[in-house]
Amino acid sequence: MKHAPRIVIIGGGFGGLYATLALEKKLSRLNQKAEISLVSKDNFFLFTPMLHEVASSSIALQNIVTPLRKIVRKATVITSKVTAIDRGSREITLESAAGTHHQLGYDYLVIAVGNTSNFYGIPGLEENAMTLKTLGDAITMRNSVISLLEKSEAECPDSDHAMPISVVIGGGGFAGTETVGAIHDLIIRSLPLYPKLRRAKVTVHLIEGGEKLLPELGSELGAYTAEALRNRSITLHLGWRISAATETTVTITQGETEKVVNHNLLIWTGGVAAHPLVNALEAPQEKGRVLVESTLHIPGDTSVWSLGDCAAVPQLGGGFCAPTAQHAIRQAETVAHNIVAEISHARLMPYTHRSIGALASIGERTGVARIFGFQFSGFIAWWMWRTVYLFKLPQWEKRIRVAIDWTSDLIFGRDIVQYLPDRSNTKGD
Ligand SMILES: Cc1cc2nc3c(=O)[nH]c(=O)nc-3n(C[C@H](O)[C@H](O)[C@H](O)COP(=O)(O)OP(=O)(O)OC[C@H]3O[C@@H](n4cnc5c(N)ncnc54)[C@H](O)[C@@H]3O)c2cc1C
Repeated sequence: MKHAPRIVIIGGGFGGLYATLALEKKLSRLNQKAEISLVSKDNFFLFTPMLHEVASSSIALQNIVTPLRKIVRKATVITSKVTAIDRGSREITLESAAGTHHQLGYDYLVIAVGNTSNFYGIPGLEENAMTLKTLGDAITMRNSVISLLEKSEAECPDSDHAMPISVVIGGGGFAGTETVGAIHDLIIRSLPLYPKLRRAKVTVHLIEGGEKLLPELGSELGAYTAEALRNRSITLHLGWRISAATETTVTITQGETEKVVNHNLLIWTGGVAAHPLVNALEAPQEKGRVLVESTLHIPGDTSVWSLGDCAAVPQLGGGFCAPTAQHAIRQAETVAHNIVAEISHARLMPYTHRSIGALASIGERTGVARIFGFQFSGFIAWWMWRTVYLFKLPQWEKRIRVAIDWTSDLIFGRDIVQYLPDRSNTKGD
């Protein structure tokens, strides 16, 4: 290679950002020259574990995102969408916000584009359900809940006729369970501000195809979570699957039995699908993820690497790593180590991982956690969740801002201002 190696990383999420940071550090330690480009369609890093806190208005939206340019030190940040990868010519195609296209060459490519939502072809689901994957999703969800409260209060003469609010959430994994707790909190804690809307008018449903919530945390914590949610009058439909959805109803089925649940807000967190770039890569896949060696490159090709949610990374004991931020951050270290090793003709190392555990916040200052095999639930687990994730935010600026938001929420209650994108108009209508 005559020029300094060109390393291009696609995706500014947990995998891509942390791989960039690790590469910057390792290359500078070895005094090795390389051009690093981080290409991402958004100019910010989004801290997804706190998305439900934005959706439920306990954190201001800008506090869980950090501009990539403020985090990386030496890499060039390119805010563009990657539309194609040509492994033959070792080029990717970028589409800028202005719609122009251009090519970017690479010697080493790291693909960390995450995944997309899967609606499994369920009739009406994609058209009528919201998802919670992006900052835009969280803002839309927050606005929709507040709009529902406003509508219910405004469109009735008295509390007996207030429009009922029915929120339905599909998926009882981490995202669904945390979202149901958070949205329920937002509605219930805002009720004193809506005198015509009584608690009896609010129903929140959680639909999960399996028999347990949060199966990753084990049956005891799953049962604790189910009981905690039921105690708040959240209706659980365990063992039921969504089979169809319309603007106002969700049909759920269990074997031959079918039920219809009315909704005025439907949220879907129940499935993930392959990213379009992964589908177009012409490389082996495992259930919609790029299949990589344990050293994290594509089989037989050490110029293309992948990690995080879009990669099927083999685990030592068999199977593949779960799509979690914890794995993405650790895989980033391995990718960076191995690319530097490849440049300097050293030995590659496999990705190995010992899980620290997992935590979930389930609303009303309650949580569940399994850390190093020990189980925690209730307030202590919620406090652990907040402490752990606060310190996982990438910069002190955001940690302080989030801590202030949480404190303000405790003292002043939820902020129910709607974020409306309307421009001012001079006619005054
Ligand atoms: C609501 C929610 C809560 C979660 N909570 C937790 C939790 O508590 N703990 C945990 O460990 N995990 C959690 N996760 C999972 C965690 O967010 C993912 O495992 C992690 O984000 C994976 O990192 P990644 O880099 O692979 O993908 P992502 O973080 O999704 O990043 C993908 C990046 O690629 C960019 N991108 C996508 N397409 C293109 C393109 N064509 N061109 C350029 N850039 C592109 C995106 O803009 C983004 O920056 C949660 C996920 C969600 C949705």
